[in-house]
Amino acid sequence: MSDLRELYQSVILDHSKEPRNFGRPEAVSHHSRGDNPLCGDKVEIFLDVVDGTVRDIAFEGTGCAISTASASIMTQAVKGKSLEEVRRLFEGFHELVTGDPSVTAVAPGELGKLAVFSGVREYPVRVKCATLAWHTLNAALQAQPEEAVVSTE
Ligand code: ZN
Repeated sequence: MSDLRELYQSVILDHSKEPRNFGRPEAVSHHSRGDNPLCGDKVEIFLDVVDGTVRDIAFEGTGCAISTASASIMTQAVKGKSLEEVRRLFEGFHELVTGDPSVTAVAPGELGKLAVFSGVREYPVRVKCATLAWHTLNAALQAQPEEAVVSTE
């Protein structure tokens, strides 16, 4: 168990130091900004959605290791996925970090690398750091075509 925890922490550390998909894609169809005032995390999500599929996604922002790693891993998880798959991942991730993962409708295997955030639910203050990017992604997808601004407060 502690080995698993160390593995999870090293993945989070890796993504916070070297965020993947950081920047802006060439084409942007959806965009949103998110803010977690409790921790000072700020994130902007850019998506290029074509025919109901996330063709490209990237993010910019500043924040703690958890928020940066969550945005980085999220972009990897949703890239190339259909909007329906993205919605399921969002629900699965939300349950993973806020509640009992055994009740989630999404099988743990489907979450893949997102599982590294399972330890976050032991730290309620950190849950908003981990979910900020996801709420911002959700807002971006729902607020087309204008920009959306969300706050987790
Ligand atoms: Zn944070």
